Amino acid sequence: MSPQSNQSDKTPKPNGLSPTVIILLLWLLFLNLVVMGGEQDSLVPYSQFLNQIEAGKVARVNIGAQKIEYTLKSELQTQEHPHILTTIPIAQDTNLTQRLEAHNVDFSAIPPSQTGWIANLLSWIVPPLIFFGIWIWLLSRSQMNGPGVLTVGKSTARIYSEGDTGVTFDDVAGVDEAKTELQEIVDFLKNADKYTYLGAKIPKGVLLVGPPGTGKTLLAKAIAGEAGVPFFSISGSEFIELFVGIGASRVRDLFEQAKTQAPCIVFIDELDALGKSRGNLGGMIGGNDEREQTLNQLLAEMDGFDPNTGVILLAATNRPEVLDPALLRPGRFDRQVVVDRPDRSGRKAILRVHAHEVRLGSDVDLDKLAARTPGFAGADLANLINEAALLAARNNRQAVMMEDFNEAIERILTGLEKRSRVLNELEKTTVAYHEVGHALIGAIMPGTNKVEKISIVPRGVGALGYTLQLPEEDRFLMLEDEIRGRIATLLGGRAAEELIFGRVSTGASDDIQKATDLAERFVTLYGMSDKLGPIAFEKGQQQFLEGFTNPRRTVSPKVSEEIDSEVKELVDGAHQIALNILEENKALLETTAKMLLEQEILEGEALKSQLKKVEKPSTMDNWLLTGEVTNFLPHNPIKSNGRICL
Ligand code: ADP
Ligand code: ZN
Repeated sequence: MSPQSNQSDKTPKPNGLSPTVIILLLWLLFLNLVVMGGEQDSLVPYSQFLNQIEAGKVARVNIGAQKIEYTLKSELQTQEHPHILTTIPIAQDTNLTQRLEAHNVDFSAIPPSQTGWIANLLSWIVPPLIFFGIWIWLLSRSQMNGPGVLTVGKSTARIYSEGDTGVTFDDVAGVDEAKTELQEIVDFLKNADKYTYLGAKIPKGVLLVGPPGTGKTLLAKAIAGEAGVPFFSISGSEFIELFVGIGASRVRDLFEQAKTQAPCIVFIDELDALGKSRGNLGGMIGGNDEREQTLNQLLAEMDGFDPNTGVILLAATNRPEVLDPALLRPGRFDRQVVVDRPDRSGRKAILRVHAHEVRLGSDVDLDKLAARTPGFAGADLANLINEAALLAARNNRQAVMMEDFNEAIERILTGLEKRSRVLNELEKTTVAYHEVGHALIGAIMPGTNKVEKISIVPRGVGALGYTLQLPEEDRFLMLEDEIRGRIATLLGGRAAEELIFGRVSTGASDDIQKATDLAERFVTLYGMSDKLGPIAFEKGQQQFLEGFTNPRRTVSPKVSEEIDSEVKELVDGAHQIALNILEENKALLETTAKMLLEQEILEGEALKSQLKKVEKPSTMDNWLLTGEVTNFLPHNPIKSNGRICL
């Protein structure tokens, strides 16, 4: 997930006049003033001009095709009569010259005017200029709004020149192994001669694989920054366009540009959008022709360029398992660098990098924060720091305090507090028992998830209350009994509602979804079901994206039935154990729920002392290990058919 990497805004900008158009308009106005302006004010009616001739007032006349200029006799010139008067000739008046001769007026023709030929020339130059201006304007608009009519086939790769990425390895923290491997690429780029002298071939392509937000893009930029070479980047999905053939021409274009700038880095984000295995396309005939052509072009380009030109291709993906094997062959993306979620010390290092950007309070302990944030990727941690700073600002603090960070972590995990959502008494009570149910069961289940906080303050989308469980350490494996325990904890909320109210609410739907998904993975992915054995029922593995389900392997209807019954048995068992535990601890459930109703939030010592009192029923340990439930409750705890909706 890289929430920061927003798609560029594709809505057209509000139609302000572009500078080019404004300049053109001003130019036209200026011409208008220079060429034609300034003369109109002293125009004299033709009849008056004739009268003045008859009266013998006129001394001199200049006759032109467009106008006649004349001067009065010097004794008649006054302040308000300008020296030269102008009138417009009337073509029908053919005997003007005789009239002038008769009154002894000097006359001559006006020489062709200077401005006349300039205006003439401009009338040839200006219209093409206007068209040119409009064309430039359209061009710049279409570039602003992404690929348009005029950019067909041109790569939209953004070019950062040297130093422009501004990123160095110091800005990337917590991924030391990846950095060590990539250091070599930097060296290739800086001292290519050393390698070519020995006849070594520089690797063409390096694939960065890892979950979203772990800093793959950042690393690619850092390599360019460290080596001081230009950085071209394009996203795999940008290649895929509606028009057939454009994706492929983009690839050609990108490589052409890159070769002229070598040594340089070309970075393709989301390679999977473009390089999905051609075998996996399913039965859609011609459905993905375009993508295939683009991919083929990419493969051809990669084979076509000399490894020592100094163009190094970096690509990132979080689904390496779906990539076309052809992309991963030697000479293409033959190097893979894993950029995984950081461990605790890595998280601390990343927090330290980003903490520079904010004013930290004296009580902030980055180590503690790192401990509280297992599973967070670099982008999440950067986001955490920013959220905490926003909260501190809202609280009018001088610095970001630990309290802000704790609130920010909760916010990221469970969403915003929504105190405005008012629950009625019945709903509130139901939510309180539901959450305490989760907490009591979570408290005695194996694993490292510690119940930190219970709250009935609504948060985020749909959460009316929540139980916050934070792991005490990073875990890379989950044991069989821990998964069972997790499912039981998830069902604890529903079990509490059944036990106390004898009827259930819709509030448990999310828990049920998660419990069922986990149970299904238990059977189909982890091979933990005794009946079905260690057989994978899902095709392939999702390494870096959680919650993505793979298609099922083709199984016989009988096996399919068995999978369903195993999943059901697991969930039923967990439900039963949850009920057993709460039955055994019913008094504790009641008192804790009452405390929660009063205080709305339970945490710290108050919560700990309650959770310490939870008693394990005798059936629990055996179930955790074997999945067998020995003594089902004698009665069905659901007594009424009523359903309340939350
Ligand atoms: P990816 O490409 O793996 O999805 P990005 O490189 O886009 O992730 O990371 C998004 C942002 O998260 C970065 O701009 C950076 O602020 C932050 N970030 C991610 N990983 C790290 C890291 N290892 N060190 C420092 N910051 C990181
Ligand atoms: Zn719940």
